[in-house]
Amino acid sequence: MRPGMTKGGGRGSYQDLEATSLLCPRCGKAQPVRRRLLLVLPTGEKYSYLCAVCGEEVGSKTETGPIKGVIQTLD
Ligand SMILES: [Zn+2]
Repeated sequence: MRPGMTKGGGRGSYQDLEATSLLCPRCGKAQPVRRRLLLVLPTGEKYSYLCAVCGEEVGSKTETGPIKGVIQTLD
């Protein structure tokens, strides 16, 4: 029941790339995550990030991709 103390390990610059590990509140530390497609919306796709160890959802993200179907090719 003690709060997980994160060891100060030097602050790395935040990476805006694909998240490969997130802080899991259940494990109390950063764990590798699995991305799971939750919803497909007209405006994008919603993903859920699950802890690969315990399966807890540690985050979600909505990605808006290029809208398909509006591109016309002119011959
Ligand atoms: Zn976990």
